[in-house]
Amino acid sequence: MQSELYIDGQWVKPVKGGSFEVINPATEEVIHRAPAGTAEDVDIAVKAARRAFDIDGWPQKTGSQRAVHLRAIAEGIRTRQQELARLEVLDNGKPFPEADWDVADAAGCFDFYAGLAEQLDDNPEEPIALSDSRFTSKAVKEPIGVAGAIIPWNYPLLMAAWKVAPALAAGCTIVLKPAELTSLTALELGAIAEEAKLPPGVLNIVTGSGSVAGQAIIDHKGVDKLAFTGSGPVGSKIMATASRDIKRISLELGGKSPFVVFEDADIEQAVEWIMFGIFWNQGQVCSATSRVLVQEGIYDRLLHRLIEETKRITIGNGLDEGILLGPLVSKRQYEQVIAAIEAAKVAGATVACGGRRPEGFEKGYYLEPTVLTGAPLDSEAWREEIFGPVVCIQPFSDENEAIELANDSRFGLAAAVMSKDEVRAERVAAAFRAGIVWINCSQPTFTEAPWGGYKQSGIGRELGRWGLDNYLETKQITRFTSDEPWGWYIK
Ligand code: NAD
Repeated sequence: MQSELYIDGQWVKPVKGGSFEVINPATEEVIHRAPAGTAEDVDIAVKAARRAFDIDGWPQKTGSQRAVHLRAIAEGIRTRQQELARLEVLDNGKPFPEADWDVADAAGCFDFYAGLAEQLDDNPEEPIALSDSRFTSKAVKEPIGVAGAIIPWNYPLLMAAWKVAPALAAGCTIVLKPAELTSLTALELGAIAEEAKLPPGVLNIVTGSGSVAGQAIIDHKGVDKLAFTGSGPVGSKIMATASRDIKRISLELGGKSPFVVFEDADIEQAVEWIMFGIFWNQGQVCSATSRVLVQEGIYDRLLHRLIEETKRITIGNGLDEGILLGPLVSKRQYEQVIAAIEAAKVAGATVACGGRRPEGFEKGYYLEPTVLTGAPLDSEAWREEIFGPVVCIQPFSDENEAIELANDSRFGLAAAVMSKDEVRAERVAAAFRAGIVWINCSQPTFTEAPWGGYKQSGIGRELGRWGLDNYLETKQITRFTSDEPWGWYIK
């Protein structure tokens, strides 16, 4: 485990020498001390990133040259896949197979953006047809500059990949700050970048708290673009701070995503996708389908099967074989989710199953997977993100009501619909006010497809070619080709 910051291609102690505890959420044991970066370290990191961008020529490299480094990082991740997945479990608590999947996805993300970097070479400019034949014009894409990336703890390495890979592919340099709860694999990414011979200053990793290191990144005048994934309140603060310097921003924030199940759906498949939509990663997923709407005719049968299967989920240390639900990431998160369940009860909801600490667990931030029925439509449980393994379920009568209930949210990250009627599924998908829509499933995420939210769930899109655009500016170059004088002032 790394104990220093990765800045300008070097491993360095934080200027102020601070560190903070890394706690294993399964055992509550302190397993490491991570370096606590401050504004001083961020300043050094941003200056290194500036030099790498402004002087050392990272943006001037061809896409193919940058792709060589990206592919080497992908390979480095794959070579250490088991070790990285294990670190992810120790740091975040998720079951090992999930962590293994995340790490493979992170490697795939670097490969994918290597491909897009190469494609930048194939299409360096786009000719533009003008209405005046005396001029020609073309549009070119150029990297924005230095990116500051701030990421959450729910997919530590994968969230780093979602930002670092497209930024580097575009020709940006970057300062990355992982969440203070999960710094381990982000720091390992520094070691992998070093092995991949990434030039100094292109990727800098500063661990530390949001209010100190994170704040220093968003405040820094040397940062041209902020890429953030996390909570709404911090996203709002970033947007306000960025407005001062007109920094480019992309925000991936929270959600309270609906899952609409029609009567013609297969109940067994619906139950499995509902569970995958809310219990995967302990429900700590921004796109978790935490509001389930089931058509009246199958509501009772589906609820019965959902409770049966939810009770069967094996809970435990993510490193143990066969575990499907690990602990929540931290004591604070655990307490917040328990408090949300208690508040839901007070508001009138019924705990159909779960809702408490599982028996036999003295240590660790474990919580039984929870199904809530009858949460009032104006309650926090129905409207606000809980970010834990807690699903609210309600019946609906017809399609119009389902769409109205589904869209009645200030969020618009994701939505899912399940029906054997393809025409209806497409109609409902079109009616959802959300950036990500799943038909007959919930959560599968592909590097190739755009990711991001409507409404208060964010601004901009990650992944796919849209993720590359996040780090690119568009420049028009227009040429006067006529030999005739312009003739405005001088006739
Ligand atoms: P958070 O907003 O508290 O923290 C996210 C990151 O921001 C961390 O690195 C943190 O250190 C940093 N931060 C905190 N205060 C800051 C400040 N003042 N200035 C700069 N940086 C600051 O959120 P979290 O607790 O890490 O994650 C949970 C939230 O993230 C949930 O609400 C979830 O919906 C959201 N999330 C969204 C997505 C998405 O793709 N849309 C993905 C994961 C998580």
